[in-house]
Amino acid sequence: MKRFFKAIAAALALPLLLCCGCGIIPGQPDGDTETQNSKGFWRYTDTAMGTVIWQSIYAAGEDAAQKVSREIMDYLDNLEQEKLSWRLDTSEVYKINASAGSPEGYQASEEMASLLRRCKELYQQSDGAFDATLGPVVRLWNIDQWAAGGQTENFCPPSSQTLADALRKTGSDKLVIEETPSSSEQTIRTYVYIPQGTGIDLGAVGKGYALAEIRNLLEQNPEVTGAVISVGGSVLTYGEKPDGSSWKVGITDPFDTSATIGVLSLRGEWCVSTSGDYERYMEADGVRYHHILNPATGYPADSGVRSVTVLSKDGLLSDGLSTACFILGPEKGMELAVRYDAEVLFILDDGEVVMSEGMEGYYQ
Ligand code: AMP
Ligand code: MG
Repeated sequence: MKRFFKAIAAALALPLLLCCGCGIIPGQPDGDTETQNSKGFWRYTDTAMGTVIWQSIYAAGEDAAQKVSREIMDYLDNLEQEKLSWRLDTSEVYKINASAGSPEGYQASEEMASLLRRCKELYQQSDGAFDATLGPVVRLWNIDQWAAGGQTENFCPPSSQTLADALRKTGSDKLVIEETPSSSEQTIRTYVYIPQGTGIDLGAVGKGYALAEIRNLLEQNPEVTGAVISVGGSVLTYGEKPDGSSWKVGITDPFDTSATIGVLSLRGEWCVSTSGDYERYMEADGVRYHHILNPATGYPADSGVRSVTVLSKDGLLSDGLSTACFILGPEKGMELAVRYDAEVLFILDDGEVVMSEGMEGYYQ
């Protein structure tokens, strides 16, 4: 584990194009959205899943870049509508939540069942710090209405009694995923059961999860030679730049979110996710409430951490671990990340930067 202080890190930081927790430095002159420069590089900015999507794509031609960019946007819209949204009645998460307490449960797609199994495992491995069943508590805080730079007006934190009541009903150990063989159809059906009062919220893993399919889409388009795709606080690096140099992903300085505290130099094979207390928050009576909740208390995590950045080949892991590590703090968080073969970097309350040994090779 390496520790050093913000002043040193800040001196090394470069000006970056920022995007939530992670910024992108494609190594090319900034172009207007959807314009080509001479090096076959295109950049697209759009919104999906309630967040900004930045795409920086190197391709043999504009048609190829545009095609894959559109495919990525269509995929993200579908993922939200069909799988992840807690708000849209078309999504599986919505339907699971609507089935809470019913003995019939909800017959889930294989994809949803497998995603929930992985979330359950992360719950167990993180000693409950990451909990995909925290939906009702997230709703009590009304986090989806928050933005960075939270306003004080009309915001009233939930009472500790309300939170305690909601917490008694949540916990991923209560999420049951059962396979039922169907002899007539020779297929296996998977049912998901959650008790009344519990609700799935995949806000802490959804964006990172999307990166796996985005990587598949890029691979299916051989005219695309390299890309950096940022979905909210999760970034995928893919392929190579024409000059062979590494992709640069900036880490936002939580003390000055218009600046970066450091840069990761990466090959095109990584998923990088950042969870930071500056991403969504509200202030009331001089207290700052952020969006990463400790499932043990129902309140925003208070582990001495301002942000956590996790590097993994797997986007669900980078995203889920960044949330879990934020709650666990540097010691336990480091242990968890190492167990998953991930690299992790913590920025602490006092500006100290703490990182895993493997992260040192990527961080400047
Ligand atoms: P992230 O920005 O990836 O750390 O995810 C934060 C989002 O995940 C919040 O906006 C909530 O929707 C949800 N969330 C908050 N706390 C937790 C937690 N302890 N476990 C799982 N999801 C959480
Ligand atoms: Mg996360």
